[in-house]
Amino acid sequence: MSVESFYSTSVRIIVKGIVQGVGFRPFVYREALRYRITGFVCNTPEGVVIEAHGKHCEQFIKALRENFPVQARIDSMEIEPCESAAYTGFEIRESTLGLGSVAIPLDSALCLACQTEMDDPANRRYRYPFINCTDCGPRYTIIQTPPYDRVRTSMKHFTMCPECLEEYNDPTSRRYHAEPISCPNCGPKLTFLDNSGNMLEGDSIALAVEMLKEGKIIALKGLGGFHLMCDATSDTAVAKLRLRKHRKSKPLAVMFGSLEQLETYVSINEVEKSHITGSIKPIVIVDAQSETNHLSSLIAPHIQRLGVFLPYTPLHRLLFESIDFPLVATSANISDEPIMIRSSEIVGRLAHVVDGILDHDRTIINALDDAVIQIAGNRVVMLRLGRGFAPHTFALQHPTDKAVLALGAHQKSAIALGVKENMILSPHIGDLGSVEADGYFERTVQTFKRFYDVEPSLLVHDLHPQYASSAYALTQKREHYGIQHHYAHILACMAEYGMDEKVLGFAYDGTGYGEDGSLWGGEVMVADVHAFERIGHLKPFALLGGDKAIKEPRRIGLSLLFDIYSLDEVLNMKSPTVEAFLPHEIRTLHHMWSKNINAPRSSSIGRLFDAVASLGGFVQSLDYEGQGGMMMESFVDDSVVTPFSFEIENGVIDVSAMVKEIISLQGDKTQIASRFLSTIETIMEHFAHLYSELPIVIGGGVFQNRALMSRLYRRFGEGRFYAQQQTPINDGSIALGQLYYALHNTKEDNGR
Ligand SMILES: [Zn+2]
Ligand SMILES: [Zn+2]
Repeated sequence: MSVESFYSTSVRIIVKGIVQGVGFRPFVYREALRYRITGFVCNTPEGVVIEAHGKHCEQFIKALRENFPVQARIDSMEIEPCESAAYTGFEIRESTLGLGSVAIPLDSALCLACQTEMDDPANRRYRYPFINCTDCGPRYTIIQTPPYDRVRTSMKHFTMCPECLEEYNDPTSRRYHAEPISCPNCGPKLTFLDNSGNMLEGDSIALAVEMLKEGKIIALKGLGGFHLMCDATSDTAVAKLRLRKHRKSKPLAVMFGSLEQLETYVSINEVEKSHITGSIKPIVIVDAQSETNHLSSLIAPHIQRLGVFLPYTPLHRLLFESIDFPLVATSANISDEPIMIRSSEIVGRLAHVVDGILDHDRTIINALDDAVIQIAGNRVVMLRLGRGFAPHTFALQHPTDKAVLALGAHQKSAIALGVKENMILSPHIGDLGSVEADGYFERTVQTFKRFYDVEPSLLVHDLHPQYASSAYALTQKREHYGIQHHYAHILACMAEYGMDEKVLGFAYDGTGYGEDGSLWGGEVMVADVHAFERIGHLKPFALLGGDKAIKEPRRIGLSLLFDIYSLDEVLNMKSPTVEAFLPHEIRTLHHMWSKNINAPRSSSIGRLFDAVASLGGFVQSLDYEGQGGMMMESFVDDSVVTPFSFEIENGVIDVSAMVKEIISLQGDKTQIASRFLSTIETIMEHFAHLYSELPIVIGGGVFQNRALMSRLYRRFGEGRFYAQQQTPINDGSIALGQLYYALHNTKEDNGR
């Protein structure tokens, strides 16, 4: 078919992807007017359907492909000739929406056009904290059920004034069908509360500013939940926040008033800058610039990385109009529980932490944390799937007729749903194991069922019987089965890239339940979508004291020493690990080690990082997960690339020789941190060489280490090496991997 005849004067177009709630239909309308096209555009369960008639269909289609709105994502565009018809103009038809192929629209940061309006004293939305349009504002966080229409969002409580209604109904307005549209006359209102929930008289923003300037802590309602905020330059304020929140040293994210301000505190590269200033404005973990400014040293003690972001709601911007210092902005929650979304929760559970609450009456329906990313080798490494990225919808190549719900892991919990033509990965829920987190987990399951109007017939979960997510699956009277944790990591990466061929997978993680009941975590596997074979793993070592060893790297370091040296040799050794104990403690632990008392074996690379962090004298006891790796990262010198020695026999990786070399380096931190990363790389290269015909796929929390990831991108380059970029590289993607397995396997052959 020639181009002319294909682009006939009458075509029917179906567009799929993120095409709802993003101004897609008015965009189509405007392009239709420009190219004198007649016909209509309409939202349907299949996607956006366009019927176009006119001489310039080809240019019209080209414009659709090239100029679509910033928040939209086109997954596919089907074009076919249709019968000609006599339309007098182009119209936007009412939706015939059901629940189907359309992705859930995502929240986005304040756009430039709205920003300009709110800065303009002549505009009727001058300094309006809830300004938004089809390009920006809340979406997922305010949706009760799709389709995305105002009546099914928390904006239904606000009746549009005549002026807003006119914009809403005008296809040429950039607020045409902007569902959260409002103005000072008809929209939500700010209030300021004290920590008992009593409303304070006066200008809410001024009250918040005053408290922040006094070094106090406020809770501020953002898009997906509350932030706790305080002056990031004040040691007193940050120390108070840490003390009150019982958060000793886990790094806190910092929000800057502007890019200019941000750049005087941290150094960022162009790729980082594009994400920091883009339309989502996630938290980006960047290098802390040590020699400069006055951020409190308590923000991220002992590490050289800092989570930074820019104001993303109009309310944030208004706050920074009167504040010239950066603000700590951390999710309002208790440890790793879900973020809080109601001021009553703050009053009930965090009254001892905050001095005041900047609240408003636009209800958050779906809690949503900020997304956290970092850049390694110029690529995104997703650390937390949140605002602007979640829920993440993938179009399936082969639609599924069976609805499958995957329940994920335990830490960094998230769920995934496979339904019709889509796989949908939920936002970060939090760590399970508390009433609040488990409750929020179940609510997310309900939300997903409601969003897609589906009752899953198959549940998939982690093999670990004690995970709350596994327990949930077992209580449901549905077909269900478990999938090995590290295999799920590899599958998650395959899912992101749509791979179904055989791959060489490296699942480097903390501890996870292995098929043999031991604690895996340093697995090398040959896998496809049906099964995996474990072809390599770290030689298991004892976690002395079980869970205690996970908090105390010195216990793992000691266990590695016991594997090589006698008790007497260890007692007389000069090593930071040994010095972290009293001699009688070492004797007790040696007894546990030799008699195998509360000393479960693990092959986890994450735990090996901890052990090296202890042996190298970086840290002996942890305040938060991953701290050992992060503290070592600060010392990595990329010009030091000689690996330590190790042996691999029948796929079992023995690092005894490395441990000896580390001891002999006598605490040279740069050498130890840098050469350890080279060792990990070299181990991977060994297997990559053995299976040189297979693509390399990675997954697991260890790859959150930016220095390691940068080196891997350098070493393995393009073409063969696959690492997740859109979905979390950590346990936040386990559900996606589980789902990908289930969609490729029927019950009969779930051989894993
Ligand atoms: Zn806007
Ligand atoms: Zn209004």
